[in-house]
Amino acid sequence: MPYHLTRRMFLQAGGALTTACGLDLQAATPPRELKISHTTQTRSVCPYCAVGCSVVIHTLGDKARNVTPTVVHVEGDPDSPINRGTLCSKGISLKEFIVNDQRLTRPLYRAAGATEWKPISWDQAFERMARLIKETRDRGFEADDAEGRRVNRLANVGLIGGCTDTNEINFLLSKFRFGLGILSYENQARL
Ligand code: SF4
Repeated sequence: MPYHLTRRMFLQAGGALTTACGLDLQAATPPRELKISHTTQTRSVCPYCAVGCSVVIHTLGDKARNVTPTVVHVEGDPDSPINRGTLCSKGISLKEFIVNDQRLTRPLYRAAGATEWKPISWDQAFERMARLIKETRDRGFEADDAEGRRVNRLANVGLIGGCTDTNEINFLLSKFRFGLGILSYENQARL
């Protein structure tokens, strides 16, 4: 009759062998503390594509004013019905996107004909964008069409949204668009 080794018998034999040899496995391999043991968890959305996977961002730092928080880990959100905790190879590299000394943190401007980008302030960037939009709108706005019908439209400006735009950004873009009368609007919207 073939000998049948059960899981319980296997574990009992292993325990007896360990004791006989004088080994204390717990002392030999103390549990390692997880890098996310003391982190703050923030839920967000992967910015890379229109799938819109949810992520959990782990930040280290005790929220004291003299401590700069550091992102130590990003993982898929298991509570998300979209990705159920999974991330693709791009999404799983999000930490390197967040903690990256090559990341742009201020606007750069390259004048027409220039070869170099120069840093400018946010106020300068907003002022320039607002002025150019205003000048373009003043040139292209049509209050009435050729038959005298009220149209309030702007055909010389187009608006393009990206896959990283959330519902809230799209809501604001729509407000912006209708406020100016922009007709052309394209968006790889998510969610
Ligand atoms: S994890 Fe991958 S599939 Fe999901 S949103 Fe990011 S890039 Fe898209």
